[in-house]
Amino acid sequence: MDEKKRRQSMILYIIAAIVIYIVLSTVLFPNISPQRQVVEVSYSQVLDDLAAKDVDKIEYDNSNLDIQYTKDGESNTVYTSTAMSGAQESLQEAIRTSGAEQTNVVQQDNSLWTYMLIMYGLPILVFLLFGWWLNRRMKKAMGDDNPSMNFGGGFGGMGGGLGKSGARIVASKDVGVTFKDVAGQEEAKEALKEVVDFLENPKRYEAIGAKLPHGALLVGPPGTGKTLIAKAVAGEAGVPFFSISGSEFVEMFVGRGAAKVRDLFKQANEKAPCIVFIDEIDTIGKRRDGAGFSGNDEREQTLNQLLTEMDGFDNHKGIVVLAATNRPDTLDPALLRPGRFDRRIPMELPDLAGRKAILKLHAHDVKTEPGIDLDAIARATPGASGADLANIINEGALRAVRMHRTRATQEDFEESVEVVIAGQQRKTTVLSEHEKQVVSYHEIGHAIVAARQKGSAPVTKITIVPRTSGALGYTMQVEEDEKFLTTKQEVLDKLTVYCGGRAAEELIFNEMTTGAANDIEQATKLARNMVTRFGMTEEFGMVALGTVQNAYLNQDTSLTCAPGTAERVDAVVVELMQEAHNRAIQILKENKFKLHELARYLQKKETITGEEFMALLMRENPLMPKTPTV
Ligand code: ADP
Ligand code: MG
Ligand code: ZN
Repeated sequence: MDEKKRRQSMILYIIAAIVIYIVLSTVLFPNISPQRQVVEVSYSQVLDDLAAKDVDKIEYDNSNLDIQYTKDGESNTVYTSTAMSGAQESLQEAIRTSGAEQTNVVQQDNSLWTYMLIMYGLPILVFLLFGWWLNRRMKKAMGDDNPSMNFGGGFGGMGGGLGKSGARIVASKDVGVTFKDVAGQEEAKEALKEVVDFLENPKRYEAIGAKLPHGALLVGPPGTGKTLIAKAVAGEAGVPFFSISGSEFVEMFVGRGAAKVRDLFKQANEKAPCIVFIDEIDTIGKRRDGAGFSGNDEREQTLNQLLTEMDGFDNHKGIVVLAATNRPDTLDPALLRPGRFDRRIPMELPDLAGRKAILKLHAHDVKTEPGIDLDAIARATPGASGADLANIINEGALRAVRMHRTRATQEDFEESVEVVIAGQQRKTTVLSEHEKQVVSYHEIGHAIVAARQKGSAPVTKITIVPRTSGALGYTMQVEEDEKFLTTKQEVLDKLTVYCGGRAAEELIFNEMTTGAANDIEQATKLARNMVTRFGMTEEFGMVALGTVQNAYLNQDTSLTCAPGTAERVDAVVVELMQEAHNRAIQILKENKFKLHELARYLQKKETITGEEFMALLMRENPLMPKTPTV
């Protein structure tokens, strides 16, 4: 502990001591006070009190005739007086008849001692105890394993509870998760089966002289089941599971993180074979750089300790360290070196089959109407993670309860897809009729542009019910089949669909609204990717002009080209957007009658399905000119 910390805790200690002293002396013992009141009374008053038998204790000094006495029930007041000379006899007589105790008034009273003890002794005792406790705490924080100072320090036995390191320790029966609870992710399971096998019979590997990896790193976007699968490995192998999150290492006391790592591995060593799981390892495993902030010290120390422990442990015992992260690009290369996290197990977002499997797994425990089409839900949710899908099923079940039904229906799940994508319906947002009209034209604009282009996914739903996410309406499109590749034409068509909303507003109302902000953002991002990453423009061809910053989070790209090139990139992006906008205007002009018809219909009904939309779009209206077909 450095000097600063020590001084800080000293100051804390003194402040606490003063506070305790004040509280004790004012709140707890206000009645005890050594300040005895001294009242001078006349000699005749003394005789009166004696006659009234009010006197409790009385002291009489023959040499100087001083009288001191206390009355019954008034032990804090001492009455003093002087006896008249020559009256000793009568005074003695009066005392005897009154029955007062003739004794030393002040000294024999022990309340002063009680007072002293409580006022000074008790606080000192409390301070000593407090100081001892504080000292013990800091020793523990320092990872000082002096057993005499560490009474009952570890609850860290099997079966849950918190150890000194704060690592959650769960015995195998408590994990309650096996590979059966992880849907999809077959490659990850395959890779981890070897680990399970190793944990089950380490001898076989030892016999042949094979060294198993010390650690495996699970990488993938949030919610893909990394934490889940790590637990499942422990569950499959039936070994204890030590889990700790990276953020738990970063503590307020300097040096505590490193102590925790040491402690964690010490416990793991005792319980081997076992699994140590470090979740969100990027919080401590960030690349160390020379020009760090001073605040990085603690993290670096923790990381160094982790590296040391991983090199140090004896792998014959069967300790496997698993770690999870969604920022693999930021990890320190030292962590990925052979002998440490040398295996990298990708956990990607689920594909169509994976999504269906996850939905099925989670829907298993939910009472549903017969004939639920989870396939349709899976198709409507490209890009959803396992956690999203679990959430969709649960939201659907909750909706069924809200509607006072005992079984969830297809509609419940479809609505919950929208809740997860766009937020809850916000019925309190009341749009004016004109606003509703604008939103209707905007959404139908998107839908018509999508329907009139070959490369666009079919429209499945259009709604103008506001959502808590802030969307005033949206058009849902679902691909018929899962796509792994997108052609240039399809990207261009998508750009045009994004422009369709604003284009409709301009065409009909000859005005612009803020409603297109999100469309513009998405479209611009897509256009920029066309230029910088997909190599889809003639001007630049196949040149990477940007790098993806964190692939698993928001996919932000940063430009890696000269400023002059960046300017030209911007120009190309603007051009792409303008072309898409013009195409959208063109399509809507050709379909202006349908645009009016459908927008009015949507405004009235607020939500229409893809089928309704297509039926209306395809219907020949004898009053209107024929719509051109694509
Ligand atoms: P991560 O650690 O990758 O962020 P989690 O393991 O915490 O994700 O997953 C969160 C939840 O999502 C899990 O508890 C589980 O209910 C669900 N989930 C995610 N992936 C799957 C999957 N492949 N199979 C079943 N459930 C999953
Ligand atoms: Mg996790
Ligand atoms: Zn829009």
